[in-house]
Amino acid sequence: MSRIMIIGCGGVASVVVRKCASRPEVFSHITLASRTASRCQAITEKLPPNSAPVVVEQVDADNVPELVALIQRSKPVLVINVALPYQDLTIMEACLQTGTHYLDTANYEHPDAFGFEYKEQWAYHQRFADAGLMALLGCGFDPGVTNIFCAHAQKELLDTIRTVDIFDCNAGDHHQAFATNFNPEINIREITQPGRYWEKGTWKTIPPLSESKMIDFPGVGERRGYLIYHEEQESLVKNIEGLERIRFWMTFSEAYITHLRVLENVGMTRIDPVMYEGHPVVPLQFLKALLPDPGSLAENYQGKTSIGCHIHGTKDGQAKTVRIFNICDHAECYTEVGAQAVSYTTGVPAMIGADLMVSGLWKKAGVYNVEQFDPTPFMERLNQFGLPWAVEELSNDPF
Ligand code: NDP
Repeated sequence: MSRIMIIGCGGVASVVVRKCASRPEVFSHITLASRTASRCQAITEKLPPNSAPVVVEQVDADNVPELVALIQRSKPVLVINVALPYQDLTIMEACLQTGTHYLDTANYEHPDAFGFEYKEQWAYHQRFADAGLMALLGCGFDPGVTNIFCAHAQKELLDTIRTVDIFDCNAGDHHQAFATNFNPEINIREITQPGRYWEKGTWKTIPPLSESKMIDFPGVGERRGYLIYHEEQESLVKNIEGLERIRFWMTFSEAYITHLRVLENVGMTRIDPVMYEGHPVVPLQFLKALLPDPGSLAENYQGKTSIGCHIHGTKDGQAKTVRIFNICDHAECYTEVGAQAVSYTTGVPAMIGADLMVSGLWKKAGVYNVEQFDPTPFMERLNQFGLPWAVEELSNDPF
């Protein structure tokens, strides 16, 4: 039984809190801390009876001394960071200063610069190793479960892996003209950057959303997927042996792309401050304030997500192609935890990673990505805690 701390109280955090609190035999006490304490309070008020005790705290996670004081007072063994990627380094620093393990779902981004890479978090490896602490990076769905699917294929299904195509389809309808499924600022930063994929030892860069293809998504059918850069590619290139190519495909509706292009064309996705009537305003942050809160989409969301990996390699000397995937229904997530499927598919894996860490099943001092651990207990828990997966062998390679 372990005390943990969850930082952040958005759509993803609401699922992490709910799922962790439903397992008091593993997570005996939870501190939920975020910038706006009233939002934390609103999450705890919806918890069912018999949940683990959840104590609410206010914290500015950009402020290391404030974090250190809170962690020292609350004494968690592990901090789950589901605030924003901007806070990754400050929370890692506070964990080091207090002797606390760390877990997150998205890699560090600098608020003033485009680009997301693991290098700044991997640079903490030696300090975590020397302190006998573990930091687990990218433990959501993608990154997270998609990395685990690759590790599972490497362990159980294939002798060699040559190519990986990760696919992410949200075929849901939230009945809004334009909205993002997780934090709008992070989401729009991600997809307005150049696409990038790795092939034969080098990274190839293409203009944003310039390459697409029709893909048959399991449980959803044919949709157009766009080649974008996604952070799990960076760690999988290092950790999956023999990989020759890895790409990432995500679906966007025509309406979504049209809105995005217009917003870009008028400068609303800029991240540099613009002076407006004597005040600096960052257009993307202002846009975030206008868009629906992703958590608020949950109530009327219909349809499914279909996310997974298409992996090609060899088994017993023969070519073999498999796809491993999960299909998640927005309305079922809402019934279970009051959240939409994008928050759910991120929050459940974060709870599972935390479970494996506090129970000692995943234990290594240093900074690691999820595919560097045994995927089997994670795969078992996905089935157990709401994200069942399937494996299909394909007779030809559609990629
Ligand atoms: P939200 O914007 O809904 O929530 C973010 C939360 O972080 C808010 O509660 C916000 O506080 C809090 N926060 C922001 N800055 C600070 C700060 N300085 N100090 C304390 N708290 C702060 O985001 P989501 O729930 O949609 O996403 C959470 C994380 O999950 C993000 O990092 C996102 O990138 C990641 N993610 C990962 C996915 C995966 O599959 N791996 C998929 C989807 C998301 P306030 O309420 O005051 O604004």
